[in-house]
Formats: sequence, C-alpha cells, structure tokens
Amino acid sequence: MGMASYRNGDVHAETESATRATVEVRGLPLGPTTFALIAGPCSVVASDVTLRVARDVKTAGATMFRGGAFKPRSEHRSFQGLGRRALPILAEARAATGLPIVTELLDVRDIEAVLEVADLVQVGARNMHNTPLLKALGEVDCPVLLKRGLAATIDEAVKAADYIRCGGNERVVLCERGIRTFETAYRFTLDLAAVPILQDRSGLPVLVDPSHAAGRRELVPSLSKAAVAVGADGLIVEVDEDPDAALSDGPQQLRSRDFAAYAAEVRRLAEGEGRQMLE
Ligand code: PEP
Ligand code: MN
Repeated sequence: MGMASYRNGDVHAETESATRATVEVRGLPLGPTTFALIAGPCSVVASDVTLRVARDVKTAGATMFRGGAFKPRSEHRSFQGLGRRALPILAEARAATGLPIVTELLDVRDIEAVLEVADLVQVGARNMHNTPLLKALGEVDCPVLLKRGLAATIDEAVKAADYIRCGGNERVVLCERGIRTFETAYRFTLDLAAVPILQDRSGLPVLVDPSHAAGRRELVPSLSKAAVAVGADGLIVEVDEDPDAALSDGPQQLRSRDFAAYAAEVRRLAEGEGRQMLE
C-alpha cells in the first residue's frame, strides 16, 4: 500500500482497495475472519478488584483486558484515573491472565510509560484530532486502537488513522463508539452504518464500543448483537465487579457476574457469522 507523507495536505493513504488488513496484537490476528472481545473496567482503581475482573473476563472467554489509567473526564473535579500508578496493576492483570492489555494514552508525555504495559494503545474519542499524539504513535512499534471522535465524520476518522499509518505504524484498529446527535434518550448515537464504511475506506479492522454509545448497561447486549450483525470485527465493552461503586461510567458497565452469559451470546452470534473468536 503506497503511503503519502504528512507534508502533502490533500493526499492520504491509499484506502480504495477492498482488501482488509489483519492487525496482530500479541499474536492475535484482528481482521475479517476473526472476532475480538475486549472487556474490563472503565478505570483501574484497585489491584484486587482489577485482578478479579481480569480473571472473570478471561474465564468467560474475553480476548483482551481493558482498563483506563488516564481518564479524559468532562468535569475537572471528576476522578481523572490513577495515572501512572494504574500501570503496574494492568501489568499484574496481564501476568495473571495472559490477556493483552488495552489502555488509553491521553498525553504524549506519557507515551513511554504507557507503552511499557499496553499491547494495544488506545487513542480516545476526545483525542482523535490530536495530531501530535497521532504522529507520535506513527513512530512506535505497538498497535493503536483509534476511537472515532464523538463529532467526527467517517472521513475524518479515516484521515486520523492515516496520520498514524503515514508515520510508519500500519497497525491501526478503528472503533465506532457513538456520535453526538440531537437525541438525548441515551448517551451517544451508535452509528452502525459507519462500521462497513470505515472498513471499506480504511481497509482496517473496526470494533464497536456499545458501552460508551449506550451509557446504560441494559442497552449493551442488544447493541452488541447489532454490531456483530453489521460486520464489526470485535467489541470493546466495559465490565466491572460493582459498577455502582465505580468512579467513572458506572451506569454503562456490565457486572462481571453477568459477563459470562453475555460473552457466550456474543460468541454464538460471531461464530454464526463465520468468525473465529480470538482467545
Ligand atoms: C474509554 O474507553 O474509557 C473512553 C473514555 O472512551 P471514549 O474515548 O470513546 O469516550
Ligand atoms: Mn468509560
């Protein structure tokens, strides 16, 4: 695939070809014939709970473990995450379960610390337009989970991915996590039609995050089914032991005791679509 340079403002990666890439995360091939189920708490708070949730999602068949160390919160008084103190906890979770770790890099100044534990480094929705961060991640040897901005068009999301790819890092996975519309009955509008279009225009794997879209846990199973049906290459879903006690995004997190049934249903549907669950 011929890649353009940053200097040429109106040229981006050649993404017209319908062939879709497979992106490896610690040997796990994310792509058109597989299905990834990434699960874990919104934010990492304590080591004991984090390890229990990691073991629960591993037992239920999750592909990777997610957990936020650095949290992009709307309100400055809200819990901002444990920051660097959460990183050893994530490393412990990986050592205990073998699950690859997905965590967000919020600030380019933390890139080295975060990459020590991240197997798939997340760029959150609020940073999709942060070009210095995208450029920095173009130069690292770590796959990137790039979430579509909450007010970004499909074209802008593909162009953000090209910032990373043009820097030399081809291992990018996109994620549809809901966009802001006039609707207020749920948190964001999950743009399912974006999934096949993003896949086609970028050639990259595309995940769906039903948790941040819904904002409410009772909507998560049905949005997950819809994501499988529309051809998503995986899901990233928030799960905590006691979401009511969570310091961020409690209402949208599945309870870890309910996760096994949820994961079994996702597996059944994904396999029905001819995909191999990654574990
Ligand atoms: C998250 O994954 O915890 C998160 C903050 O997601 P988003 O960037 O999609 O809001
Ligand atoms: Mn969250």
